[in-house]
Amino acid sequence: METSISFYGGVEEVGGNKILVSTRETSIMLDFGLSYQSRRKFFSDPFIIPRDVETLMKLGIVPNIPEMYSETIKKPFSVLFLSHAHRDHTGHIGLLRKDIPIYAGEASINILKALNEVSRKSIESDIHGKTLKSFHTGDVIKLDDLEITPIHVDHSIPGSYGFIIKTPEGSIAYTGDFRMHGPKFGMTEDFIRKMKDQQIDVLITEHTNMLDGIVSSEKEVEEKISEITRSCEGLVIGDFAIADIDRYNSFYNAAMENGRQLVITPKRAVVLSSLKNDKKINVRVEDTLVLMKEKSRVYSWEKKVFKEWKSIEPEEVSKKQKEFLVLIPQVEMQQIFKISPIPGSVFIFSSSEPFNEELEIDYDKLINWLDAMGVPMYTVHVSGHIMPIHLKKVIREIRPKKVIPIHGENPELLKKYVGDFNVQVEIPKVGSKVFLG
Ligand SMILES: [Zn+2]
Ligand SMILES: [Zn+2]
Repeated sequence: METSISFYGGVEEVGGNKILVSTRETSIMLDFGLSYQSRRKFFSDPFIIPRDVETLMKLGIVPNIPEMYSETIKKPFSVLFLSHAHRDHTGHIGLLRKDIPIYAGEASINILKALNEVSRKSIESDIHGKTLKSFHTGDVIKLDDLEITPIHVDHSIPGSYGFIIKTPEGSIAYTGDFRMHGPKFGMTEDFIRKMKDQQIDVLITEHTNMLDGIVSSEKEVEEKISEITRSCEGLVIGDFAIADIDRYNSFYNAAMENGRQLVITPKRAVVLSSLKNDKKINVRVEDTLVLMKEKSRVYSWEKKVFKEWKSIEPEEVSKKQKEFLVLIPQVEMQQIFKISPIPGSVFIFSSSEPFNEELEIDYDKLINWLDAMGVPMYTVHVSGHIMPIHLKKVIREIRPKKVIPIHGENPELLKKYVGDFNVQVEIPKVGSKVFLG
C-alpha cells in the first residue's frame, strides 16, 4: 500500500486534470491543467486574471500545496508529464517551480512554445525558464522505481499521448484525451494493444462524451464544410480550436475543392509554422494567406509572420468575397465586421459549444456579432473524445482490475454502463487517494 494516485483536478468535470502518482521512492504528476469550471467562478479573461498563486490556492483553483510552486522546500514530485497541449491539461504549468522538468511529445512542446510567443503573458501558462523535455511514442522513461511509457493516441490536437506506468505494486494506464473515430485512429489502437500486452491494474480514463454520443468522422466534417462552401454566395467564415490540425486540413481541402483561398490570422500562422516541418502531422499551407492588420497595431512576432507568409489586405478580401474562406477567432470578429460580409455570407462554427479546450467562447456575444452582420451560422463538428460504445469496448479489451473515470461529468453513468463487466469502478473526489496493491 505504498503506491497511490491522488486527484487534484479533472474530477467530475471536463478537464483540469492534475493526477499525482506516488511510490515509496518517487512521485510524478500527470498533466497540470486549468479547470475552467472553478476558474470561471472568479476570473474572466482578459481583465479579471489571476495575479498570484496564493490567491489561486486559497480559492481552490490549484492544489493548496505551496511546495509545488516555491523552490524553497522539498520537491512535491520529480517530473510533470503532459498528455497533450490543450489548456485544460497544461494551463497551470506556468505556476510550477522551475526545477521540475516537464516531459511532453515534440508536437506538444512546439505548440506550447508557439502559443507562448503569441499570447498575452500570464503567470498561469508562461513556460519561460521551464525545462521542457520531449519523448516519443514507445520510449521507456525510468525514474527511481517507476517506468513510464508514453504511447501516441488520436485526439483533436497533434502530439497527444496516453501513458502506461509500471509501479512496484502494479501498472497504471492513463488515457489523456483520446478517440477511436478520428482520422488517426491507428494511433489509439497502438495504445490499446500496448495496454492489453501489459495487463493494466488501474485504468484512469476520460469519459467526456457519455451524453454527447454521435456517429461521425473528420471526413464527414470536411464534406459538410465543402458542401456549405460550394453553395455559399458570399464570404465563408470559419472558427475552430487553433491547434486542431485535422480541422484545419478539412477547411483547407474544402476551400481548395471549391476554388477558394484560405485566409488565416497571424496567431494561427505561428501555430501552423511550428508544426509544418513535422512529417507525421501533414499541415497543408501552400496558398494559405495571412490577413493583414493595421500597421499601427502590429506586434513584433506578427511582423515576422508577415515576412514569412503571403498576406492579404482586408480590403482585397472585401472586394472578392466569393474567392475566400476566412478562419477567424471570435476575438477578431471586428475585422470581419470591417470586411462587411455581403448578403449570402455564412459562418461555420466548428468547435464544441460553449467552450473548447483552448479558450472559452462567449457564445452570446458571438451571436450578437453575427446578427449585426446578417451572417447565419452552421455548426459542423466532430468531437476529439471517445464515444461511449468505443470506451466500453476499450475497457472490455483491457480488462483492468479497476477503472477510474475522470475528465467528464457522468462517472456514475459510466459505472452502470459497464456494470456487466467484472471490473471495479472507483469514482475519485478532489484530493482523494486511490491505493494500489
Ligand atoms: Zn481535455
Ligand atoms: Zn484535449
